[in-house]
Amino acid sequence: MMRPSSDGARGPEDVSASLQPSRASAVPSVFFLSMKVAVVGSGVSGLAATWLLNEYSDHEVHLYEASARAGGHANTVAFKQPGVKDAAAVDVDT
Ligand SMILES: Cc1cc2nc3c(=O)[nH]c(=O)nc-3n(C[C@H](O)[C@H](O)[C@H](O)COP(=O)(O)OP(=O)(O)OC[C@H]3O[C@@H](n4cnc5c(N)ncnc54)[C@H](O)[C@@H]3O)c2cc1C
Repeated sequence: MMRPSSDGARGPEDVSASLQPSRASAVPSVFFLSMKVAVVGSGVSGLAATWLLNEYSDHEVHLYEASARAGGHANTVAFKQPGVKDAAAVDVDT
């Protein structure tokens, strides 16, 4: 803690109070910086991370996907039993 000098002049500003733990300081300060962020993969993890960063930060977010479709392993396909005429399609989560 800084104390006034004996001649009453103030020294450097006491910032110790602002250094005390608080709810705000629980959030890493890097979260408030604006950076370029690359999210690799558009599976549910990548989509969630991209949404979160776009919604709650000022970061410039770029989502990269190697496949032709987004979603990763979360993929539902219509399956028809082979060899059965007029078989109804069943949605299968793959
Ligand atoms: C056979 C199987 C069945 C499952 N069944 C279920 C279920 O019934 N219910 C359930 O809740 N969960 C299920 N899961 C788990 C669920 O699918 C996964 O937990 C979830 O999809 C994983 O999401 P992810 O984003 O972490 O990864 P992924 O979905 O694997 O996404 C990764 C993405 O990153 C891309 N990628 C990889 N490398 C690169 C690169 N170098 N550059 C660019 N893009 C890249 C991939 O193409 C992919 O799109 C199943 C998983 C499998 C494998």
